[in-house]
Amino acid sequence: MMKLLVATGNQGKLKEIRHLLNDSGIEVVGLDQLDNPPEVVEDGVTFEENARKKALQMAVFSDCVTLADDSGLVVDALDGAPGVHSARYAGEQGNDAANNAKLLTDLADVADERRQAAFHCVIALAWPDGRCETFFGQVAGLIMRGERGDGGFGYDPLFMVPEYGKAMAELSLEIKNRISHRGTALRKAIPVLQGLAQQAG
Ligand code: IMP
Repeated sequence: MMKLLVATGNQGKLKEIRHLLNDSGIEVVGLDQLDNPPEVVEDGVTFEENARKKALQMAVFSDCVTLADDSGLVVDALDGAPGVHSARYAGEQGNDAANNAKLLTDLADVADERRQAAFHCVIALAWPDGRCETFFGQVAGLIMRGERGDGGFGYDPLFMVPEYGKAMAELSLEIKNRISHRGTALRKAIPVLQGLAQQAG
């Protein structure tokens, strides 16, 4: 079976990606299965730059085809913030509760009809020889005034999906993957992955 390294330490992302690749004949390996992986500095100004950097660095290090996701929340009333800084919006890397609290504070004076936002995702697929392909997905919604639901991760409890009238954190993993930025981007990458899996036999 073909092995695919998924270069993320974010357990929420890993769970969604594993679920999406469930019946693909591809064995998903996480960063926890590597010895001393390098620390990738995410200093790109776009999701694409960061996704490429993560995927390429880990593909070269591991000698394995590697998938990396760079994603985040883009809020219209904040001129696109938190954007590539989504994971560390409130200062500390990966502190979802602090990030959500800051988002609510920053949008406190923004009227209901101006609270449009979107999650963006770039999936990069990199080979140890330096090739890299990228795939994009996004989903639009509104930022609510309080948290709802306990599924997903990150900003999901504050992100209203108008089509369902529910917060992203209130949707099942199946539904989130069907509509999400990450699901859309990954479905575009699946034919390429399936081609590789076939070659690997
Ligand atoms: P990255 O690991 O640098 O790509 O940062 C991703 C950050 O964007 C996460 O820590 C979350 O704050 C946010 N984010 C990305 N995708 C999602 C999602 O599906 N739901 C909620 N927040 C997300």
